[in-house]
Amino acid sequence: MRFESDTFVINYNKDNENFAKQVFTYLESQKTQIFDFFGINKLSNKLNINIYDNLLDFINLLTNNGEFPDRYRPTNVATVKNNNIEILNFNLYRQAQGHQNRTFDDYLRTLAHEFVHACHMEILIDKTKQPALLMEGIATQLSKQTMYQIDYIDCSAQDLMQNFYKTHKAYHYAYTIMGYLLATKTHDEILSILKTPHKINVNNLINETNNYLQKKELDYK
Ligand SMILES: [Zn+2]
Repeated sequence: MRFESDTFVINYNKDNENFAKQVFTYLESQKTQIFDFFGINKLSNKLNINIYDNLLDFINLLTNNGEFPDRYRPTNVATVKNNNIEILNFNLYRQAQGHQNRTFDDYLRTLAHEFVHACHMEILIDKTKQPALLMEGIATQLSKQTMYQIDYIDCSAQDLMQNFYKTHKAYHYAYTIMGYLLATKTHDEILSILKTPHKINVNNLINETNNYLQKKELDYK
């Protein structure tokens, strides 16, 4: 079964109709704001959102595709590739590692996160260079995944550049570093960084973020 708009096609089984409808309504409500941020008014192709009722099907999808061997980790709940967002249904999502206490709002934010990736791809100049730090940073920020905010970046640039998905708290670092950029740069500067995110100096970025966080803390007292 499906819901369809100019931007999204939601594919779901009958049992999921109620929450598929909420997913559709939520994404439609977030769409304009996220498009505006990236300066686009549509995606090149409609985005299919496939809701999985079977964990094994989802795991197979993530591990059997040639592009990302061994991509699956027990914390994975959703992914976007080509014109498809693949996501577990809400019950399976809550069974994933680290997701036991997540709410339906968190689930909706996860979908918005994947939608941000799809929009970001539209402005990325070199599609072969998708540095996880800034890709995940803007996706977590624009989808308002505020639980990732931390007050110090205590990892190396090497970890974030070479080993992002294996680094503990990587999404926290990404959210917080992008939060620093959003708070201190103009919108044009942010867009220019996001068009060629591989050009940024991550070492400087970590230091600047920590200085900013420290100063913010001092200001507060
Ligand atoms: Zn992501």
